[in-house]
Amino acid sequence: MSADPLRTERAGVTVLRMTSRIPHWIDGRLVEGTSGRTGAVYDPATGQQTGAVDLASPDEAAAAIASARAAATEWRGSSLARRTGVLFAFRELLHQRSGELAAVITAEHGKVLSDAAGEIARGLENVEFACGVPQMLKGGYSEQVSAGIDVYSIRQPLGVVAGITPFNFPAMVPLWMCTTAIACGNAFILKPSEKDPSTALFLAQLWKDAGLPDGVFTVLQGDKQAVDALLASPDVAAVSFVGSTAIASEIYRAGTATGKRVQALGGAKNHMLVLPDADIDAAADAAVSAAYGSAGERCMAISVVVAVGGVGDALVDAIAARMPKLRIGAGTDPDSEMGPLITREHRDRVAAYIASGADDGAAVVVDGRAADVPGDGFFLGVTLLDHVTPSMSVYTDEIFGPVLCVVRADTYAEGLALINGNAYGNGTALFTRDGGAARRFQYDVEAGMVGINVPIPVPVAYYSFGGWKASLFGDAHMYGPEGVNFYTRGKVVTSRWPDPSTSSVDLGFPRNN
Ligand code: NAD
Repeated sequence: MSADPLRTERAGVTVLRMTSRIPHWIDGRLVEGTSGRTGAVYDPATGQQTGAVDLASPDEAAAAIASARAAATEWRGSSLARRTGVLFAFRELLHQRSGELAAVITAEHGKVLSDAAGEIARGLENVEFACGVPQMLKGGYSEQVSAGIDVYSIRQPLGVVAGITPFNFPAMVPLWMCTTAIACGNAFILKPSEKDPSTALFLAQLWKDAGLPDGVFTVLQGDKQAVDALLASPDVAAVSFVGSTAIASEIYRAGTATGKRVQALGGAKNHMLVLPDADIDAAADAAVSAAYGSAGERCMAISVVVAVGGVGDALVDAIAARMPKLRIGAGTDPDSEMGPLITREHRDRVAAYIASGADDGAAVVVDGRAADVPGDGFFLGVTLLDHVTPSMSVYTDEIFGPVLCVVRADTYAEGLALINGNAYGNGTALFTRDGGAARRFQYDVEAGMVGINVPIPVPVAYYSFGGWKASLFGDAHMYGPEGVNFYTRGKVVTSRWPDPSTSSVDLGFPRNN
């Protein structure tokens, strides 16, 4: 094991190296930035700045791209056996060191350690899927389509591909992308969120320790300048983006304008439709964990419960009864079930939505602003708003915090129309005991991922992840089979070999010449 970029010795004790500069990772090593620009990184549980991340200039981006380009040529030629060998080794290292990585995630993101471990576990599924990529790259073969002519298809890597990722899953979302991209023979440049950039360096070190050649995995720290350089470069063939809808649509526009493949996953407003026959306790448990887990900072969080028929009052009571039991505190405290939000500004923005919901006439059943939460850090309690209507900003906007809205609907059809009328279409869930209703819902609903009595239906790694409408720009969902297609391009070969009778080798046929 080589030197760990995230740990250092202080007075004989190993501590996380979080109070210093957080550099790039180029050519298989840490590279200090030269732009003179840095971004502040905080421990959201204390509100203290813990690091300063380098923000790349266009020149630094160009150096990272050049390194990746050189590495891509060699990596493309590596055998499938070598690639899968590296992936298996990476899988083992990630598994062995997941506790340490969870601590790195929690230190900058704030989520509780069990949540951080959960995102690593989901990311591990993507590594395991990528270990089997040779199966997906087999192509097809048609013999003797005409006399002496065979046709076959192969899939080849694109070259250098980039991933631009959000703060809320600093390990899992990069693993959605880089595992498949690298397994397919590409070099991958990660531009992580500048809010929690250290996880990317931990992953980079693991890739190196797993035997990945230098330059195949690069971390370019930065903000819009780094992203713009990646989008403008003719040497970057494809861009995978996950983040807010406004940025996703802009990345899609700018990336495709320069001829790149782009998959850009945006924001969400996920609805949970609860039918009158649903198990209220199960629905309430699901709503609480799916709305407030990771402080609501999940793209698959439930942010609207649609209560159908007479189920509303009982459901709101059941949710409200569970909320005081949710323990809020530092993510490092094993007793905490919900940590702080990512920044002070974001916490204040979420709190302002609670005020605006109340002003617009929503009933504030539980007010997170009044909660007894740790004084330091970016904490906010959990909020439940009832009698929300579709015209309120708490309904139309993605709040991305621990605020759950309840909308009342008289019928299934009314609830369905509400979901289908929403601008976003990432995930949705139905709670019912009726199989016919469930089947009808999965047919009718306009969203990319559907849960039946499952609140957060994130697909397993051998399916693909992606929403509809304003939750996805582009046509390729992420990871799984669609990820393999995205990171490779097809080639079809039509091949004619001379008739055996004319072959220069004696194949046992009568010779014509
Ligand atoms: P964000 O859009 O602010 O940032 C995402 C990435 O884009 C970051 O790497 C950031 O540095 C970069 N970026 C920010 N502004 C940019 C600009 N003007 N030009 C170029 N690049 C820019 O998102 P975030 O706050 O980090 O993450 C939260 C958002 O991500 C939420 O909207 C959430 O729904 C969404 N998200 C979606 C999914 C999904 O699968 N659909 C998954 C996770 C998060």
